[in-house]
Amino acid sequence: MLSIVHRNIGWIEVICGSMFSGKSEELIRRLRRAIIARQKVAIFKPKIDTRFSDDHIVSHSELKIPSKVVESAWDILEQSLEAQVVGIDEAQFFNNDLVLVCQKLANMGKRVIVAGLDQDYRGEPFDPIPQMLAVAEYITKTHAICVICGNPANYTQRKTPNKERVVVGAADIYEARCRNCFEPPEESKKEIKLSAGNRGKAQETSK
Ligand code: ADP
Ligand code: ZN
Repeated sequence: MLSIVHRNIGWIEVICGSMFSGKSEELIRRLRRAIIARQKVAIFKPKIDTRFSDDHIVSHSELKIPSKVVESAWDILEQSLEAQVVGIDEAQFFNNDLVLVCQKLANMGKRVIVAGLDQDYRGEPFDPIPQMLAVAEYITKTHAICVICGNPANYTQRKTPNKERVVVGAADIYEARCRNCFEPPEESKKEIKLSAGNRGKAQETSK
């Protein structure tokens, strides 16, 4: 991070990775330091994620920090006008307006720290994190440890057969896996095969 910071310059930091990779821990660490330095801090999480608490962000290792629950990205804009630092957890549960809101906050001179899952249970990019990465000044990719082989884990394995994109849960439903040990669900295996086939065709026709 910058060691010299000029007044009134805002920016966006993104912390992303799989479940259990330490995104919330890292977000809480950064926000605590800002609070210690007596900066005005506003912290938010989406209404959908009230797994452990509805008035705190809580990590899987039970670190916690008070936060407000909001229904939409625009609530964050309204409620952080006074803040110097804005923290947002579980950002993948907001829609793409979150990118616009974070840009506005950064343009107003605020430090915006966004944590979220970058891939869903199928290994597909999880909006709006990819769009947020494109406009962020700083990106931190966190890794868990693969529960099968111990390598760095970049995937979230769903242990139940649900096909909805959002199924809220923790170690009861999900586990961290590396690229080798991740088993994509049947529906996305077919998609990967299909697109590999198409790529072959494209190469043939371009010869
Ligand atoms: P995230 O926000 O990325 O889901 P958290 O910050 O909430 O992650 O939790 C990180 C903590 O999760 C770790 O410090 C550790 O206590 C716990 N944990 C559980 N499973 C794993 C795993 N497979 N690899 C690493 N940490 C794990
Ligand atoms: Zn593995």
